[in-house]
Amino acid sequence: MTDRHPVDAVIGDGRTAPAADGKPIPPAVPEPIAPRRRQTVTVDVEGVRVGSRWPVVVQSMTNTDTADADATAIQVARLAHAGSELVRVTVNTDAAAAAVPEMVRKVRGLGVDVPIIGDFHYNGHQLLVEFPEMARALAKYRINPGNVGAKRHDEHFATIVRVAIEHAKPVRIGVNWGSLDQALLTELMDANARAPRPRDSRDVMLSAMVESAMRSAELAEATGLGHDQIILSAKVSGVRDLVDVYRRLAARSDYPLHLGLTEAGMGDKGVVASTAGLSLLLMEGIGDTIRVSLTPEPGAPREREVEVAQQVLQSLGLRSFLPQVSACPGCGRTTSTFFQEMARDIQDYLKARMPGWREAHPGVEELRVAVMGCVVNGPGESKHADIGISLPGTFEEPTAPVFIDGRLDRTLRGDAIVREFTEILDAYVARRFPGPTGPAVVETSTRG
Ligand code: SF4
Repeated sequence: MTDRHPVDAVIGDGRTAPAADGKPIPPAVPEPIAPRRRQTVTVDVEGVRVGSRWPVVVQSMTNTDTADADATAIQVARLAHAGSELVRVTVNTDAAAAAVPEMVRKVRGLGVDVPIIGDFHYNGHQLLVEFPEMARALAKYRINPGNVGAKRHDEHFATIVRVAIEHAKPVRIGVNWGSLDQALLTELMDANARAPRPRDSRDVMLSAMVESAMRSAELAEATGLGHDQIILSAKVSGVRDLVDVYRRLAARSDYPLHLGLTEAGMGDKGVVASTAGLSLLLMEGIGDTIRVSLTPEPGAPREREVEVAQQVLQSLGLRSFLPQVSACPGCGRTTSTFFQEMARDIQDYLKARMPGWREAHPGVEELRVAVMGCVVNGPGESKHADIGISLPGTFEEPTAPVFIDGRLDRTLRGDAIVREFTEILDAYVARRFPGPTGPAVVETSTRG
């Protein structure tokens, strides 16, 4: 495995040099606006570092019955293979708790070392005590402070924390508006009602979520858990509420934050709402690990949520996972389906080659490819990519100029344009990203 390094906490901060009159000189070419990460401590989740000194971590959650060790192990491995750096499983029954050690062994047997997190509600304090092998096998525990029991809330919460301390595991204190601590909400609602200028109920509810997370973190530390063993989250299902609650939470501490829109939904709605909410916060430097909670279409692969999370981070320029293909949308100048098919074929080719390329050609994730429909923007966009092709529009000469590093390299003709272009891509990747000993190694791993 290659060395792993933290990222710079500040990227593209528009640094300027003072002039003789003391006023800063703007940079000749302004750097792109990039977020200054909110500073946090680092939480080590079995080797995956979560915090502002490290790249934002992608995580996901299984939807198999955890009591089915085989099915869960396979899904964990698939999610990890898709790029999930942490995978969470629900631990809700005795059978699920008993199956966890075997499931983790099976995952390791598949050659997958992804940390596996247990998600606990209602009975976590019992399961973690009664199944110590399960408690040892998991990398982190998620506790929902709204779901640890009303009457003996603090006692059950402290029990889970003591198990975490005993096994040296970090925890996520994950507040969710659908299961908010009702006693705390009532307390804040009553106080608000007595205030000279009462706030609206939404405002009080968001305050209660932040309060629940902060009081729970205080209780965890008072019980003996380290400050650097706590991650916080406060999930809601509306984009504006999400931004509001995380801004408040971010201002209250230096714990790393897990971002996610809960119950984001299916299809385009889930993808768009998650992207909107996560992007707004990430561009403010808020968020150290993300999950995109999509409801899969029946039979659809669970890995979709990992791909979307990666695409959010890559689109924002925060991390690189896959070579990016810039393709124009096509218009009346590209009346055949040839252009769409070629853009799709090249995207599929890159995706299929990535597992091998990632090993052999570190840094290849940074590759930028352009596939353009005609001469209007084709040559220009292609020149800005590392490698680009401009296809012939409907009434254009049937030739496809290929640009490499901004220069016209050659012009393709005939029926084998896609194959020839992928061969050129292979050769370019081998030359530009020659391997671990070459000059082009780019390290962005979260694992230490
Ligand atoms: S590059 Fe050409 S085909 Fe593509 S959208 Fe622009 S004008 Fe249309």
